[in-house]
Amino acid sequence: INSKLPNLGTTIFTVIGQLAKEHNAINLSQGFPNFSPDFKLLQLVNKAHLDDFNQYAPMQGVLSLRETISEKTESLYGTFYHPESEVTITAGATEAIFTSIAAFIKPEDEVIVLRPAYDCYEPAIELFGGIVVPIPLIGSSFKVDWDALKKAISPKTRMMIINTPHNPTGTLWSESDMLQLQEVLKDTDIILLSDEVYEHITFDGEQHHSVSKFSDLASRSIICSSFGKTFHVTGWKIGYCVAPKALMQEFHKVHQYNVFSVNHALQIALNEYLQSPEHYLELGNFYQKKRDHFLNAIQGSRFEAVPSAGTYFQLLHYGKITDEKDTDFAERLIKEYQLASIPISVFCGSEYNEKFLRFCFGKTEDILDQAVEILHRI
Ligand code: PMP
Ligand code: GLN
Repeated sequence: INSKLPNLGTTIFTVIGQLAKEHNAINLSQGFPNFSPDFKLLQLVNKAHLDDFNQYAPMQGVLSLRETISEKTESLYGTFYHPESEVTITAGATEAIFTSIAAFIKPEDEVIVLRPAYDCYEPAIELFGGIVVPIPLIGSSFKVDWDALKKAISPKTRMMIINTPHNPTGTLWSESDMLQLQEVLKDTDIILLSDEVYEHITFDGEQHHSVSKFSDLASRSIICSSFGKTFHVTGWKIGYCVAPKALMQEFHKVHQYNVFSVNHALQIALNEYLQSPEHYLELGNFYQKKRDHFLNAIQGSRFEAVPSAGTYFQLLHYGKITDEKDTDFAERLIKEYQLASIPISVFCGSEYNEKFLRFCFGKTEDILDQAVEILHRI
């Protein structure tokens, strides 16, 4: 086969997931909760099916849901997105990201990606002939290297992708990071794709800074979010994006032909459920308890951690234990200790050699405790 992506293998989440299954391992690798969503939400979905929302939804999504998202975005971040032309319901954030890249990236266009980067960005860029321009985040603080970013911008730069709260590192962009970015992009026409799927999962009183709060960024940005993360329903694959009308019009040209529209009954149910903001405003506290439980319990082990500031991921540094490459160590943990995690070099390029593994703490305490018991033995 004359492959369009000859160097691309299978996503790490499938590879590690299968290995974890084969070895009957405790699975803190792929990010998903091992508990059920709110029963109320499930009842709303049932009701929507019985009320016969079983045929195609409108291409852009159910208008009442888009109105609710518009109100939510304005009340949280102060920017109004018109529900009719600037909000679209997507098949997960993954579709929003893929569709954005498909809509804007032509062969030879450069796309700046900060590494480690979530694994769905780069294959999509390459599929459309774009050139990935990777910029490593700095050391173990994972801060943005602003000088490297300025140097990387060229007349060919069409897009930059950012992600906050950040998967896999659990870091957040501060207000001053956003202002810096605004300054750096000021005289360019670079489109910003802002992956904000963990917008409601921040800890220790820190706020999420959406690019929508910064008008010069918002005017060039497509911002995506995911109900999967916010309501513990990663299997539903439903999310949304907001963008100024001119960008959204181009987005729709692709969206209308790759999915046309998204699960109708879920949209009706999610709109009802979103009427109670506590359903998402409490999420940070909910996951902070899990993070703290996990971090307290690993004390005394040989793993080291800087507490995650957002997402449901915690990086653990294993430099005191071994010199092994993270992919080898992650594999050994599954095979010898029955504990699965994600080696972060897969988000960085194979030359990456820091000693970090990513653990998902979005799990019930019994599972976290079993994982921690193993971590103490290593
Ligand atoms: N971006 C990031 C950073 C993610 O972690 C995920 C979920 N794995 C996605 C996008 C995709 O979200 P969804 O499951 O809604 O497609
Ligand atoms: N976003 C999830 C993670 O980072 C996984 C999603 C997927 O399996 N593609 O673990």
